[in-house]
Amino acid sequence: MNHRTVGFLARSLPRRRARRIISVETKGAAVTQTSALDRLYEKVIAKGLCAACGACVGNCPYLVKYKGKTVKLDSCTRSDGKCYVYCPAAYFDPEPISQAIFNESYDNNGIGNFAEVKASRSTFDEILAVAQGGGTVTSLMGMALNKGLIDAAVVTSGKGSGGFAGGVVATTLEGVKGCAGSKFVGAHSLDALKEALQSGFTRIGIVGLPCQVRSLRKMQLYDMKDQDLKQRISLVIGLFCNWSFSVGEFQSLIRTRMGTKEIRKFDVPPPPANQLRVETEDGVQIISLDELKPLIQDACRQCPDMTSEFADVSVGMYEGRPGWNTLIIRSRAGLELVEMAIQSGVLQTEPFPVENLTHLRQASRNKKERVSRMTPEASGGHLACHD
Ligand SMILES: Cc1cc2nc3c(=O)[nH]c(=O)nc-3n(C[C@H](O)[C@H](O)[C@H](O)COP(=O)(O)OP(=O)(O)OC[C@H]3O[C@@H](n4cnc5c(N)ncnc54)[C@H](O)[C@@H]3O)c2cc1C
Ligand code: SF4
Ligand code: SF4
Repeated sequence: MNHRTVGFLARSLPRRRARRIISVETKGAAVTQTSALDRLYEKVIAKGLCAACGACVGNCPYLVKYKGKTVKLDSCTRSDGKCYVYCPAAYFDPEPISQAIFNESYDNNGIGNFAEVKASRSTFDEILAVAQGGGTVTSLMGMALNKGLIDAAVVTSGKGSGGFAGGVVATTLEGVKGCAGSKFVGAHSLDALKEALQSGFTRIGIVGLPCQVRSLRKMQLYDMKDQDLKQRISLVIGLFCNWSFSVGEFQSLIRTRMGTKEIRKFDVPPPPANQLRVETEDGVQIISLDELKPLIQDACRQCPDMTSEFADVSVGMYEGRPGWNTLIIRSRAGLELVEMAIQSGVLQTEPFPVENLTHLRQASRNKKERVSRMTPEASGGHLACHD
């Protein structure tokens, strides 16, 4: 069975989707029909491969986030559960997803399929003041809301439920701006998509890490509950990502170090700095990354995607140029969004130098190579690109 056939079957035979997906995952071999939740638990959660994307907890009553971890509360007998099918760490097949979004085969050149790469920054001082880099993400999402391209945005707040970073639904530019800045943790943000869908929003924009973007595209492709997700998830802005911390452990370390001081920003300057900079009301404190490395999620060590290869647009820092972003435009929707932002004066762009693109590609390939050097046993097929 080739990939295109699978995509077709997944769309045209909704009741058989899960079986088809399992068949793809096992390359047609027979599988023991354990429940989807048991498979997710054995293959992902128990092996420490959960990236805390939040897709399963937003889709299953038996899975919850607790102190930043994904916890199984009870058993379930369904063999075709969304928890397993939407999980980016259970399996990932880039080809049908690439066909669905880009209408072409997956390009494994390092940064995935793209139309153009630009340097970009917001034109608004009030966004630049709170943004991680050039404020490109906040400006694009804010403009999409203001112009009615989307009616809600799922973004990540540093003050989610229980004091942990988490996903929230914003419907105004102010709401999106309130979530600007990077929280360097797996924050289960995708569970907020459930709230957006239940509230009846029909054009939802989402900012996600590469693992979250992969999950979103699986949701759209397989749409197990016929929620019209291809239309309703209408804008996906992906971030670059090399790793993230486990939120519970990270927040507890930061609280021990910083006490009750208000934290304004976290920053990870490019190598060779090897630092986390924590900006507080009293100034900047530096923590060595060597001390923090044990807090990196195990899932990240086996993740091959550095640039959110399946987003409409992907945004990262512009190494060596503070206050600017690297912007990868990938899909038609992404291209139209960026053109609108430039024409409306929301975004300033410049050409991205060829040598920087070469460097970005190499860095992305390095991440893939690190993962592929792991044995299949160690990687457990996690987030695998079958390429
Ligand atoms: C865990 C993590 C690792 C990263 N690693 C790299 C890297 O190695 N190289 C690189 O170039 N860039 C990396 N980035 C991206 C970078 O930090 C900026 O987010 C990006 O350059 C966009 O800048 P901006 O000024 O446009 O963002 P802003 O306008 O400040 O918007 C940031 C957006 O990110 C969202 N967000 C913040 N934290 C999270 C989170 N934990 N999960 C999901 N969404 C979140 C917010 O909701 C907000 O919408 C990483 C980001 C994160 C969160
Ligand atoms: S990676 Fe996401 S979908 Fe998979 S187990 Fe973790 S939170 Fe759930
Ligand atoms: S490295 Fe991969 S798995 Fe880890 S947070 Fe980033 S995108 Fe998710």
